[in-house]
Amino acid sequence: MNKASSLFWPALVTPKNAIVKQTEQLSRSQKLLTELGLVKPGCNGTYQIMPIAQRAVDKCINLVQRNMQEAGGQKISMPVLTPTQLWKKTGRLEGDISEFYMVRDRSGKQFLMSPTHEEAVTAMLATTAPISYRQLPLRLYQIGPKFRDELKSRFGLMRAKEFLMKDMYTFDVTKEAAEKTYARISNTYAQFFRQLEVPFVTVEAATGIMGGSLSHEYHYISPVGEDTLLKCNNCGYAGNVEVFGNTSANTCPSCQGSQLIPVRGVEVAHTFLLGDKYSKPLGATFLNTSGKPETLVMGCYGIGITRVIAAALEVLSTEQELRWPKLLAPYDVCLIGPKQGSKEQVPAEGVEIELLQQLTQICGAEELLHDDRKELTIGKRLFDAKRLGHPLTIVVGTKAVQKEEPKLELHLSGAEKLELELPEVLSLVTAHVRHKQQLLQESATNEQDIAQLRTQGRTLS
Ligand SMILES: [Zn+2]
Repeated sequence: MNKASSLFWPALVTPKNAIVKQTEQLSRSQKLLTELGLVKPGCNGTYQIMPIAQRAVDKCINLVQRNMQEAGGQKISMPVLTPTQLWKKTGRLEGDISEFYMVRDRSGKQFLMSPTHEEAVTAMLATTAPISYRQLPLRLYQIGPKFRDELKSRFGLMRAKEFLMKDMYTFDVTKEAAEKTYARISNTYAQFFRQLEVPFVTVEAATGIMGGSLSHEYHYISPVGEDTLLKCNNCGYAGNVEVFGNTSANTCPSCQGSQLIPVRGVEVAHTFLLGDKYSKPLGATFLNTSGKPETLVMGCYGIGITRVIAAALEVLSTEQELRWPKLLAPYDVCLIGPKQGSKEQVPAEGVEIELLQQLTQICGAEELLHDDRKELTIGKRLFDAKRLGHPLTIVVGTKAVQKEEPKLELHLSGAEKLELELPEVLSLVTAHVRHKQQLLQESATNEQDIAQLRTQGRTLS
């Protein structure tokens, strides 16, 4: 079980009247994460993730992996360093590379600290003995740090110089097969975002530096978003303003209506149908049914793990309290017992111990945070618990030991406090655990095919 007394949890204590020098623009979730000691700023534009927040990161990684495996993904790890030579071959070094970190080894050889791995993965396949059409489709993914030399890092984890990404690269025999894969992974993405229960928008996107023929972005709507999206009030179409180019941004490309409303979005995931943009110049082929080599057809699919967490918090939280997607909350339940030396201490501790055992049965010791800092008042610990945004916080106070109808306090994230008897509290904890299980069992419904994806950015939630 997790004990608050031994948690490394370096909350910021700002002395009264201190002048805080703000070096970076903070969003409200970032402000809370920093003040609460969940995240510590490293040097300019980088972040150190502390134990409580790391739990959310690990949960997000696990959820993404679960979805990737379900969609036929196989996990790999590619080196962070990619020889710039490879990027010359695909022509990408000639684009805008001002945001890329480049390093040289002692012999002078130049490397990119990869912001993305299309070249590296494709070159790896090109130097493998030709694979057979029987081994396709191939869906390889990794989860690791990515680097971008942001001119202006902002909003903490939302736009940091180093961040955690899941990137998947898919290989198919034909354009049609690659389109099927694109639809399959797109549906998996929609499923993942539904599991997080944060309203999201799928938009038609520009292919930009990645190239390819079809691309979608997944956005959370927030005033701190850096993209402008146009949403159609009539048919639900949504597009990144970039895709409108020079054409009129007043007309909906889907229904030709004129009710396009601009909103700000935070991009949290991106998908591309790449075709042979990388496989052709790098010579990545497979052997077709008659044993002849043919060029592989590719797609790539990214999810910004740390950005999803930061942006979800930004959308859900208030100025005072964090609010987590249920599947990402660091703990399910926080339990606060009586203060040391209070008159109810001894009998209330009996209730506390009983509760600890029962809660462990229901949600597992790992999901339980016992705030055992008994030297602190209940009020102080409850204040922390509410700011941390635990889905359920249970308080064992004076009313827990009263003779008539003993009651526990239950605080649900974002709701008024409830005074309930023990069995009612346990049944609400059980309901929470069951709800999480249902979210995990969610499977892609209303699956979209490529034709739908091609003509529509869609608003989903
Ligand atoms: Zn429309």
